[in-house]
Amino acid sequence: MAKYANVIVDISLEKLDKTFQYKIPEHLQQVIRPGVRVKIPFGNRSMTGYVIELTDVVAFDETRLKEITAVEQESIAIESQLIALAGWMKKNYGATMNHALKTVLPIKQKSNHKEQQKVHLLLGEDEARQLLDVFVKKHNTARARLLEALLEHPVLEKEMITQKLNVSGAVIKALEEKGVVEVTHETKYRNPIGRLEQKGYHKILTGEQQNVVQEIMDNWDNDIHKTYLLKGITGSGKTEVYMELIAQVIEAGKQAIVLIPEIALTYQTVMRFYDRFGDRVSILNSRLSAGERYDQFVRAKKGEIDIMIGPRSALFTPFQKLGLIIIDEEHETSYKSETLPRYHARETAIERARMAGASVVLGSATPSVESYYRAKTGEYQLLELKHRIGERKLPECQVVDLREELRNGNRSILSVRLQELIEDRLKKGQQTMLFLNRRGVAGFVSCRSCGHVIKCPHCDVSLSQHNNHRMVCHYCGYQEPEPAVCPVCGSRYIGGFKAGTQKIEMIVKQRFPQARVLRMDMDTTRNKEGHEKILSAFANGEADILIGTQMIVKGHDFPNVTLVGVLAADMSLHVSDYHAAERTFQLLTQAAGRAGRGKSPGEVVIQTYDPTHYSIETAKEQDYESFYKQEIAFRSMMSYPPVSNMLVILCASKQEGHAAAGAKDLATKIAQSVKNNEVKIIGPADAAIAKVQDIYKKVIYLKAKEYQTLVQVKDRIEQYTKDNCSYKDITVQFDFNPVNGF
Ligand code: ADP
Ligand code: ZN
Ligand code: ZN
Repeated sequence: MAKYANVIVDISLEKLDKTFQYKIPEHLQQVIRPGVRVKIPFGNRSMTGYVIELTDVVAFDETRLKEITAVEQESIAIESQLIALAGWMKKNYGATMNHALKTVLPIKQKSNHKEQQKVHLLLGEDEARQLLDVFVKKHNTARARLLEALLEHPVLEKEMITQKLNVSGAVIKALEEKGVVEVTHETKYRNPIGRLEQKGYHKILTGEQQNVVQEIMDNWDNDIHKTYLLKGITGSGKTEVYMELIAQVIEAGKQAIVLIPEIALTYQTVMRFYDRFGDRVSILNSRLSAGERYDQFVRAKKGEIDIMIGPRSALFTPFQKLGLIIIDEEHETSYKSETLPRYHARETAIERARMAGASVVLGSATPSVESYYRAKTGEYQLLELKHRIGERKLPECQVVDLREELRNGNRSILSVRLQELIEDRLKKGQQTMLFLNRRGVAGFVSCRSCGHVIKCPHCDVSLSQHNNHRMVCHYCGYQEPEPAVCPVCGSRYIGGFKAGTQKIEMIVKQRFPQARVLRMDMDTTRNKEGHEKILSAFANGEADILIGTQMIVKGHDFPNVTLVGVLAADMSLHVSDYHAAERTFQLLTQAAGRAGRGKSPGEVVIQTYDPTHYSIETAKEQDYESFYKQEIAFRSMMSYPPVSNMLVILCASKQEGHAAAGAKDLATKIAQSVKNNEVKIIGPADAAIAKVQDIYKKVIYLKAKEYQTLVQVKDRIEQYTKDNCSYKDITVQFDFNPVNGF
């Protein structure tokens, strides 16, 4: 039983760390916990505050501490719930309470209302359709796209058009000068997507969709709230299911949060929600200013909206009567926070739903191994959509063995087959996407003759190449020198696997001088508009070939793309991370989904040195089930999540020696404090990026069967480093079940 409580009096401020300490009287010991609203003496007044933290450590003179007067009975305010959630996050992810509070509570911001611009269609329907025909005939694709959208929605927010529809400001201006549209300026900020005429909206669900909705809502009506995993291939109607569930939940007077990765929040998706729910829905995105975000949260709290759609942070929308949380594309890595607290939106959503009495629906075509495992073990309930709406065909997929190409004398990164198909598309005037699935910084070492990849003998992940001709394991720190010849086949074609988008652009331009080529990567998208500009240009048919990293495989629809080439599937297969096979399977499946969205069927070519690897074979066949079976066997054998749990501890310092000594000391302390075999300690080792802005980073990996075992280790280390002055200039941070790593 803690003796003291830290209380905040005003939670709408930036100064969340301004807490006051009170004694907990005996008779309130049982009811005081983080989030509870209490009456406290403050100066000579009585005020209301929220308990943030319980502690046994007195902040200053005990004799001057006052007692909490009472617990307010109506502790059901949404703030109570969110503060309790912050407490849970602090406990389970490791962070200060202040960090956790700042993550969950909307921080009051001045609303510097941006001017909102709206584009209105000035023509009548017949006239507009005639003009549309002209644009289509003249191949004015951007103008046609805009006019088509305005025929559906005669008023559209300008930002939606430029950012989501890939139509540039110049095109809007040209149409304005011709008297086709008018752009108006409104200062009153209401909703990020603006007011539109709400269209009548109804789709009859298929039997399969109906069964899913029925199952969830029958339970919901009986106050049974679970976590469901909805597995359904792209185009199987998941979004339609979400919307039906939401409609029923808000019909019953409750509210819903929908998490969608920002990149997947396309024009089509946003408009579908808006057409169905009109002004009851609000959409968060990273382009909103802090003030605008705050406004949306205030509207949610007041009950002016029922549905919030957005990326990770939309999870903390202060709905008083939350009934449903949906997480679409639940396998996406962007659901894991990379700043403190390093929470996972999936687990945090489940906890928030538990507190609120809400249900959770996780949806994906390629569920994360974690979620599928939980569905198999009965923690989540599995629901499936097995058929595509309209039975649209999946693209045809072929795998090219790059070792074979080398044997046949082709040393280019483009296989003969892929070259033929590109040639064919150029002739037909169709588009091609070439995709380089590069993640991470350090390259792995592989043999181009036999495909052998050098791995850590202890961790079964690829070793990373360092510039001193050594290879290093980023989990355990194991090292060995780079070999001169392949240890398996003796070939001298062994070395770091490197290929950049820039180099590929050069090769493609040389091989197809007639083709118009665009490249999209970190370099070409550095400024904010770069990204949208390239996508608009490609969508408008200004190029035949788009080369890019994984940013091109997600989200946007390009109906004229009929060929997707994955240049080196091995790039993601051999990153030194236990998720490598899972990411590869997901990326290949997504890349395949890019081909043939329009009328012509699509083709996919996957180039690899390891064509028999299970993640590539199963992706080719779109066979999730057998991918999962082999992947979970690997995780199980190596004690990786979800079969086991992992905690990474980071020690960072300006002094390399201090970081190293700290990490070593912690590893020793952990080894002394844990029971036999309960926790496996790996490392310390250099972090994947060992030095960032003159800060040295060392990591220790821990594996344990039970998550809570690792939480206890974290608690002990927090205590130990706080009390120990040799950790003064060492930052210690935690990451549970890492997704992106330190
Ligand atoms: P997913 O989210 O699984 O990719 P969507 O919900 O986007 O699938 O559905 C794919 C396409 O099928 C969309 O164009 C959608 O409007 C349409 N669709 C979905 N359900 C139905 C239905 N019951 N009747 C008619 N069309 C549907
Ligand atoms: Zn070899
Ligand atoms: Zn290792």
